[in-house]
Amino acid sequence: MTDTHCPYCSLQCGMTLTGRRTLEVQAWPEFPVNEGGLCRKGWTAAGLRGHRERLTTPLVRDRATGELTAVSWDTALDVVASRVRDLQAGHGPDAVAVFGGGGLTNEKAYLLGKLARVALGTSQIDYNGRWCMSSAASASNRAFGIDRGLPFPLADLEQTDVCVLVGSNLAETMPPAARHLDRLRERGGTVVVIDPRRTATADRADLVLQPVPGTDLPLALGVLHLLDAAGAVDEEYVAARTTGFDDVRRSVASWWPERVERVSGVAAEELRALAALLAGAGTVTVLTARGAEQHSQGTATVQAWINVALALGMCGRPHAGYGCLTGQGNGQGGREHGQKADQLPGYRMIDDPAAREHVAGVWGVPPASLPGRGRSAHELLDALGTEAGPKALLVHGSNIVVSAPNATHVTERLAALDLLVVADIVLSETAAMADVVLPVTQWAEETGTMTNLEGRVVLRQQAVPPPAGVRSDLDVIAGLASRLGSTAAFPTDPEEVFAELARASAGGRADYAGITYDRIRAEHGVFWPCPTPDHPGTPRLFADAFATADGRARFVAVEHVGAAEQPDGAYPLHLTTGRVLAQYQSGAQTRRVRALPDDGVFVELHPMLAARIGARDGEPVVVTTRRGELRAPARVVATIRPDTVFVPFHWVGANRLTNDALDPSSGMPEFKVCAAAVRT
Ligand code: SF4
Repeated sequence: MTDTHCPYCSLQCGMTLTGRRTLEVQAWPEFPVNEGGLCRKGWTAAGLRGHRERLTTPLVRDRATGELTAVSWDTALDVVASRVRDLQAGHGPDAVAVFGGGGLTNEKAYLLGKLARVALGTSQIDYNGRWCMSSAASASNRAFGIDRGLPFPLADLEQTDVCVLVGSNLAETMPPAARHLDRLRERGGTVVVIDPRRTATADRADLVLQPVPGTDLPLALGVLHLLDAAGAVDEEYVAARTTGFDDVRRSVASWWPERVERVSGVAAEELRALAALLAGAGTVTVLTARGAEQHSQGTATVQAWINVALALGMCGRPHAGYGCLTGQGNGQGGREHGQKADQLPGYRMIDDPAAREHVAGVWGVPPASLPGRGRSAHELLDALGTEAGPKALLVHGSNIVVSAPNATHVTERLAALDLLVVADIVLSETAAMADVVLPVTQWAEETGTMTNLEGRVVLRQQAVPPPAGVRSDLDVIAGLASRLGSTAAFPTDPEEVFAELARASAGGRADYAGITYDRIRAEHGVFWPCPTPDHPGTPRLFADAFATADGRARFVAVEHVGAAEQPDGAYPLHLTTGRVLAQYQSGAQTRRVRALPDDGVFVELHPMLAARIGARDGEPVVVTTRRGELRAPARVVATIRPDTVFVPFHWVGANRLTNDALDPSSGMPEFKVCAAAVRT
């Protein structure tokens, strides 16, 4: 019996694995985050093991035939190292780029960052988490001086009076967490859902607002306008614990409810109802997720909702505040330990001289040898194979072809590379394009830490040996580093890597220095920051001070600009994208689990829109945007706005439509809204 965690989302539900030949998932009721509950993805996770498509040997593309051919590990790593050396000799260190993932363990993410900065000497590293929570991270850093998705345990939701979910379909994306909403309501609390679709989460809510996609920001401005007009701003808190409110007060003065209604489609009376609810509540928790964040104004949108929480005096109070519901399994830890273009381990900034000195000291290299800030994820992909861009890309834990915005363009950039190397468990759509494919361990076959959406560091424990021929990403990284002549240590034992990561993070914002595997096992996870072995960890942040230089939270005034692409005569509708219960991210794993329904991509549209274009439920419709076209069966539902169509992104297709306009602060692409047309 092995206690471990689900391979998928950021809730990181605890589960017990039994059996060796036939792996079985059982409940682990003592783990507090999910108390034994799992969604159907978690219960069926054992289906990932022993799949006939599992890769068990490295593959190298034969230049003569163009086919991927099985080779030994030595041959595959030698090919990668020699081509990397040639490309860097001809074009400089930044000719080689690295792309990581928010599903990688902390140890893998850390060692991947070290591979890039030390063995490859490249500044060109980023990861798919940039597409997950980076706008919330950017806004939280500005407001609070730190970014931890939830600055409190998830169970605190049960004690809040009003919980506002902005762009989150919690009931479908992480069902075990929805029990907190149910308990909150049983206690007499209120749940508010803001989403262009009336989702399963909205079914558990007391108040539902359905704005036009891309207008969560003016909604927040309108709410704060009403709170201020009603005298509901907590002036004492604002004076004692924050700065910048006067600017924000001025900036919301012109957002009266009828103006918000014209922009967002939410009736002024509904906005007034929400403001009245918030004004009368003792405690309020505002949570954002991808629906609010994946916009070219994602950072500003989150900032506007943080402003609401701060004005009400909620941040740092028990059972209240602002939080982001991170999506990917290690979306939190993956952004803390060095696979982001601008960061070093411990959430240190790469252009901070003190941070460089500390991390270089742990790595045993001169600080000046560390490269500087690189391109953010989409900028990096956009530059691949261009004159000034990288000529080679090493990918770990990401299926870019399916998950990148404007995916046809990104696929063209991947095809323009001299060398594409993909480490994965199956031949994903991205691996199928690679010159070298490296088969790596997954979930039940490996040990490592993950940091869940609460900032709780948990331990994924190996339950079964990997299939013959498969190596861990840590082995792959170490094998490449030694072939590239790196003199720095690249340990392959996960506990040893974690101990080094903890040292590298010491004194940083995400300080893991006091965390060990033994502590995680004994305490059911440890919340960072945890700077020393005798520190209890920090489940709740901001009780006494924020992580800014003066200890005060920052109000930041933001303006509504709107989505980068607005509907017009040719593309009169809004397209939005999202998830379904039975699938996870690009579907590379869940689409291969037989016990999970794989209905394929579909187009959700309102009956009024369906009647206008002559579409019938189950019959094909064609969605077009300025970037591409998708033909898929219609799902005619009354739960979506009549001016909006929805496509799930787990299959090839949705992201051929999406817009790669970027948020200027976070680099987040505008996955959640673009102009579209639909026809039969
Ligand atoms: S997918 Fe998420 S919610 Fe479902 S069992 Fe796994 S960790 Fe829990």
